[in-house]
Amino acid sequence: MKYRTFGSLDYRPSALGFGAMRLPLLPAGADGKVVASRIDEPLATRMLHYAIDHGVNYVDTAYVYHEGASEGWLGRALKGGYREKVKVATKLPQWKATTVADFDRLLGEQLERLDLPSIDFYLLHSLDSGNWPKARDLGVLRWAETALSDGRIGHLGFSFHDEFALFEEIIAASDLWSFCQIQWNYMDEENQAGTRGLEFAAEKGLAVIVMEPLRGGQLARTPPAKIEALWDAAAADGVGAPGVTPVEWALRWVWNRPEVSLLLSGMSTMEQVEQNVRYADRAGAGVLGEDEIAVIARVREAYRGLVPIACTSCNYCLPCPNGVKIPDIFAIYNDAEVYGHRDLAQMYYGWLEDGERADQCTQCGECEAVCPQKIAVIEWLERAQAYFCVGDG
Ligand code: SF4
Ligand code: SF4
Repeated sequence: MKYRTFGSLDYRPSALGFGAMRLPLLPAGADGKVVASRIDEPLATRMLHYAIDHGVNYVDTAYVYHEGASEGWLGRALKGGYREKVKVATKLPQWKATTVADFDRLLGEQLERLDLPSIDFYLLHSLDSGNWPKARDLGVLRWAETALSDGRIGHLGFSFHDEFALFEEIIAASDLWSFCQIQWNYMDEENQAGTRGLEFAAEKGLAVIVMEPLRGGQLARTPPAKIEALWDAAAADGVGAPGVTPVEWALRWVWNRPEVSLLLSGMSTMEQVEQNVRYADRAGAGVLGEDEIAVIARVREAYRGLVPIACTSCNYCLPCPNGVKIPDIFAIYNDAEVYGHRDLAQMYYGWLEDGERADQCTQCGECEAVCPQKIAVIEWLERAQAYFCVGDG
């Protein structure tokens, strides 16, 4: 295992971190449903122990993962000498708090679930423009300072899903931050915090943990033919490590940046753990050659060329008088077409509120009149609704 630096802390994290958000699940019960809280604990524990035995020293969970079951599993899985070999990270669901006392209660529950006296790395979970101002105004930073000083948490960080400007604002809001966690992969260079965020946080002395290096698994699926042809051409030209897979390409791209402290992978099978450990062993910062970076750039462009709707998520078309979440619908549709996962997209579309889906469009035309990309919004919404085929319309 390779070890890296962690901001200004005297800690050398393994290049690969174990993410406990997509653990293997038990088969469907009598009702035919697979339930996220029913973790296959024996298998998940074997996977974790394999990772630790092969040098992984950072494990990441959260209050809400697996509907609350992940932390309890981790507490049990770390018994028998494994706790001492890793740093444990978990996250505060600050959106569940309405008073400062709730922060204490939530952290107390987490310590109990994990069966630990303190948490090494504690994150405010998934900060964005909605939940950051609420948590900040409720006094989460003052509360965290107390939890740091009484030892219930070792270091404070945050995970993030929003635009760079907010990322900058959050970092500037406190000198308590030791680290942050961002979504970053070769398709998201300019999305959310992006490469700018990675560089900015590192300059400020924060460790940067990368999540979603495979874009929620999208870059691990069988790629569309056009993308596969580019990977095959690279192999035929002898570019890249011998036998490198699309997953390894994606991970190597992340590890190539020295600002990355570690990369989290939410692994669901033992095979994935074994593969990722192997990949981590032969990756490193600054190891990709220009020819390899060029291959990834070509793949990125090819993926972008597959995007059917040229929506830039500028939000000029909002609010729709009927509540249709136009950019969100287009983002889900685009991702489904580009990465070939209609099944996942149908689930994401189902998560929209009933009044936000495409079937609420009355074809008034207000959005098309203001769209700078001149997108035929009404027509695409009809196609999206038919494609997802869910909702109440
Ligand atoms: S055309 Fe449809 S989506 Fe566009 S503003 Fe009107 S109701 Fe909303
Ligand atoms: S105005 Fe056009 S480009 Fe902007 S979010 Fe709406 S549909 Fe997308």
